[in-house]
Amino acid sequence: MDAPFGGRGAPNMNYYSTNGKAEIASLEKAVVKGLAEDKGLYMPERIKPLPQSFFDNIENLSFQEIAYTVADAFFGEDVDAESLKNIVYDTLAFDCPCVKVTDNIYSLELFHGPTLAFKDVGARFMARLLQYFLKKSGDSGISGNSGKSGVNVLVATSGDTGSAVANGFLGVDGIHVYVLYPKGKVSPIQECQFTTLGQNITAIEVDGVFDDCQALVKSAFMDADLNAHMKLTSANSINVARFLPQAFYYFYAYGQMKKLGLADQLVACVPSGNFGNICSALFGKKMGLPIKRFIAANNANDIFFKYLQTGKYEPKASVQTIANAMDVGDPSNFARVYELYNKDHSAICADIAGATYTDAQIAEAMKDCKATTGYVCDPHGACGYQALKEGLKPGEVGFFLETAHPAKFKDTVDGILNSDIEIPAKLRAFMQGTKQSIPMTKDFASFKAYLLSE
Ligand SMILES: *Cc1c(COP(=O)(O)O)cnc(C)c1O
Repeated sequence: MDAPFGGRGAPNMNYYSTNGKAEIASLEKAVVKGLAEDKGLYMPERIKPLPQSFFDNIENLSFQEIAYTVADAFFGEDVDAESLKNIVYDTLAFDCPCVKVTDNIYSLELFHGPTLAFKDVGARFMARLLQYFLKKSGDSGISGNSGKSGVNVLVATSGDTGSAVANGFLGVDGIHVYVLYPKGKVSPIQECQFTTLGQNITAIEVDGVFDDCQALVKSAFMDADLNAHMKLTSANSINVARFLPQAFYYFYAYGQMKKLGLADQLVACVPSGNFGNICSALFGKKMGLPIKRFIAANNANDIFFKYLQTGKYEPKASVQTIANAMDVGDPSNFARVYELYNKDHSAICADIAGATYTDAQIAEAMKDCKATTGYVCDPHGACGYQALKEGLKPGEVGFFLETAHPAKFKDTVDGILNSDIEIPAKLRAFMQGTKQSIPMTKDFASFKAYLLSE
């Protein structure tokens, strides 16, 4: 397929900060820095609508063709066509099928990548884009993968981010990844996916909760001294190279549903934690993607749900749930959603509905889904399924994002469904490795001292 619609030859895309106090950045700077100097999140200055002809024919295009068109609209001025195409095609070496669950509910299965969760898409894309920029700036010849030379990726994880990022970057020359995760709050199956890799991946086990890990990462980026000693970047969903590519599969899902004749009143339901995933879909909508409306499904961490009800955004400490990748008390990407809708509460409510579920309700949804449809959801996907089931209006058809394979939460899933679900071979391979991690307190001084000593 040729380079899609315009864009190329236009001036480079600029990125501004949601806090409005940082310098405008290039794509390269936004990707390498992750967070803007004023702690805001980078936003592209323009969001380019895709032409009607693209949507008219979308059901006949492959996932990779669709994704390349979307990627070209985001990154086409900054990455040459051939490189971008390679990055996209290499990233999407697996399918994201929309699977029928009931007549009006479909599951967009995002767990067919290497770590069996949706974050593979963003992480693989980011690793390849960062490598592209390193090569271009001649930084790639840095010897070895040791801390101080090259680029250091810091990533806080409540489970799936760590494995996706670690595997996305594994063996990439000139990049060292530090994965910070909360001790005892990540399932053993998740943990082995980033603690057994070795090479350029270091796992750091923090005595705290996810928000403590995220705070350590944020403090590191803000620490002038540390930044003078080493090049730091983030691979959390705040990074534009991680969150924007997630838009790809919403376009592809639309194409699949259109092919079935079910896309006229389409609702997308997104199990949400840090809100990177749903935010990318909202960018898609701004580009013309004809999804009628969205539902953000939360676990008991209901900050966004409350915001929809009250118009007030009140971050809280996160609470631990069985959908632990969504245990976020201060979702970073809220700032982007807010910016995208010009801080207009009623405009946000017009496009996005909310739902929140306790652990007991999530378990009930998993049982109900299996009993009535035969489909096995993981605890995150179950929030999506339930929110669609309760939220669809007459005439609407919806898909929820099945964000991880249920086997990643085998103990929880088996306990609830009284089952013994099979662990896919890809996952079993991780479980055979030896765990290696560095214990750390949640105190920034000790984390900093560790990084400087590396
Ligand atoms: C990360 C994650 C989520 C939440 O996605 P956000 O982009 O943070 O909203 C949901 N489910 C699973 C399985 C995840 O790993």
